[in-house]
Amino acid sequence: MYLDYAATTPLLPEAAAAMQPWLQSNYGNPSSLHAEGRRAKDAIDEAREIVSTALGCLFAEVIFTSSGTEAANLAIIGAALANDNTRRKRILLGAAEHHCVLHTASILQRLGYKVELIPVDRLARIRLDALEQMLSDDVLLVSVMHANNELGTMQPVAEVARVTHRHGALYHCDAVQTFLGSPWTVQDIDADLLTISAHKIHGPKGIGALYIRAGTMIKPLTTGGGQERELRAGTESVAGIVGFGEAVRQIPKMPDNRRAARDAFQQGLHSTAAIPSVANREDILPGHVHVRFPGIAAETMLILLDRLGVSASSGAACSSGSIEPSHVLLACGYSEEEAKEGLRFTFGHETSTQEATEAAARVIEAASQIRKGHERQTTEGKLRS
Ligand code: PLP
Repeated sequence: MYLDYAATTPLLPEAAAAMQPWLQSNYGNPSSLHAEGRRAKDAIDEAREIVSTALGCLFAEVIFTSSGTEAANLAIIGAALANDNTRRKRILLGAAEHHCVLHTASILQRLGYKVELIPVDRLARIRLDALEQMLSDDVLLVSVMHANNELGTMQPVAEVARVTHRHGALYHCDAVQTFLGSPWTVQDIDADLLTISAHKIHGPKGIGALYIRAGTMIKPLTTGGGQERELRAGTESVAGIVGFGEAVRQIPKMPDNRRAARDAFQQGLHSTAAIPSVANREDILPGHVHVRFPGIAAETMLILLDRLGVSASSGAACSSGSIEPSHVLLACGYSEEEAKEGLRFTFGHETSTQEATEAAARVIEAASQIRKGHERQTTEGKLRS
């Protein structure tokens, strides 16, 4: 049972079929002037039309990148490069942002910017009062995501945009977890820069896009050919872009069982065991559940769940095979121990309610097996001493 849709989603058959010709027979370089090249360019433009319509923006305001990560890097570092001759020398990043935003800090610092983290509350929501206090006319850019990828909590993005713009700063929104998950447009968020990614919405991996509001100044991170309005040099992945466009076209037509599956899963958990949940149900992504089993490391739980046929995630980074404490939970004020206990279950459009109920039973089974193991160890320890 795959319950890790926030990490990635399966490629839609329609997207795979749309990509196929661009992987083989239609091999033209979109920068070439001949017929093959023009066909490839038209295919990219068609996808750009679909994506920009879905975002509610102009065709020319979308540029394709190799990932959500690259789009966020381009937004933040690109804005820093384009505005380095102004007195705006501070950049504010939400403390619970994805690493593709947070890890821009070292480059920004080398470019002479002061990077500050905006505190979040217990549910990883930005503290607007803190943001307002931090803002002044020396801030170049604020980056606050649309929804947190670990806890699934929605951010007060319209308010973030309002206070940010009041101080003349740019607003970048990482909307990777929310694109097409609910109806919104870039106007609703009022972002100057906004990041999305194809593989979270049943498109191919290795394709993202950046919305750049007309008139917003950014500089490219790659130099070479003049692709993507000279903002992202490099021959485009035509098949990937076409697959992205097709996924965007198809998603609204798909039956969506995320909420029902999530509810069945939560009901399954709560009917048998009281499990403290970090995030409550309001203002949370429809397919997200985040739980902690106090005293049980997420890593132990995930290994056992995998054996029981449930694929879930901690949502946190994995380094040399072991799970680091989640930087999101640490930012929320949890201890290092607690920040290693977070488990994320995320449901897809096609997850069935039965699957979700069965998964909940296996989660309870895994927790009880681990607890029994702990108890045995404690008793054996006592007997030995
Ligand atoms: N931002 C958020 C909130 C994400 O969840 C992810 C992926 O996990 C990314 C950015 C990075 O996107 P990509 O995998 O396309 O680089």
